Amino acid sequence: MHCPFCGADDTKVIDSRLVAEGDQVRRRRECLSCAERFTTYEMAELVMPRVIKQNGSREPFDEDKLRAGFLRALEKRPVSVERIEAVINHIKHDLRATGEREVGSRVLGELVMDQLKQLDQVAYVRFASVYRSFQDISEFRDAIERLEAEPAFKQAD
Ligand SMILES: [Zn+2]
Repeated sequence: MHCPFCGADDTKVIDSRLVAEGDQVRRRRECLSCAERFTTYEMAELVMPRVIKQNGSREPFDEDKLRAGFLRALEKRPVSVERIEAVINHIKHDLRATGEREVGSRVLGELVMDQLKQLDQVAYVRFASVYRSFQDISEFRDAIERLEAEPAFKQAD
């Protein structure tokens, strides 16, 4: 990186240590041109990718919305809150692991379906029957509410 004092390209690392309980690397650097010293910090970027909706607009990943969707799909189902939280963490991990700054809502939807399938078959069918038709995770909760309001669905429950 450029020296902040003279703008030269070449700097060398003269000291490197872990800080912030190992989450960051602190480096002392020395400019090879002007010999000034400065410090840089390096940390893993764990930013959630933004979600690209079907209409092309982008929105921030919304963990609360995802949780609300799971709770709604799993309403009255024998699945503990701990398992739901574990699944949400799993999805967040998978999204970060893509290394992408943006992911399609379809990718997120498929992750949700994979997890629901393992958690609870009824919830999976609830979600899949809704999700497959509109392909946008952001409408997950509203659509399930509509689905459950239908008499035919209540009988099948
Ligand atoms: Zn310099």
